[in-house]
Amino acid sequence: MGIRVRTDRCDGCGGAAEPPCVRICPGDLLVTGEGGRTSVRDARDCWDCAACVKACPKQAIEMYLPAQVGGRGATLQGHSSKQMIVWSLQHPDGREEVFNIEAERVI
Ligand code: SF4
Ligand code: SF4
Repeated sequence: MGIRVRTDRCDGCGGAAEPPCVRICPGDLLVTGEGGRTSVRDARDCWDCAACVKACPKQAIEMYLPAQVGGRGATLQGHSSKQMIVWSLQHPDGREEVFNIEAERVI
């Protein structure tokens, strides 16, 4: 597993001093890098909690999934609001599965 920041989507949250992804990472692994975009300071320390994936308003952070879950190269993107968390699973063959989880069901 692990994450990837998509440079084609990350806009640095408008130059925010501490964008949501940086603020939420419990391991302090995300930093503002080249061009104001986020980069991963040390990917080996990431424990795949997906907090940054959910927090990014641009869906610019993808999480790689184990091959058993979605096939080799499958990724997960997410977006959360007060009412809903929307997970998007991208299969390597181009298929997309979307899972909507009501926030009241999220512990
Ligand atoms: S929250 Fe998303 S768009 Fe904002 S800086 Fe982080 S990765 Fe980039
Ligand atoms: S998945 Fe969790 S530990 Fe890994 S970079 Fe994102 S917020 Fe940090």
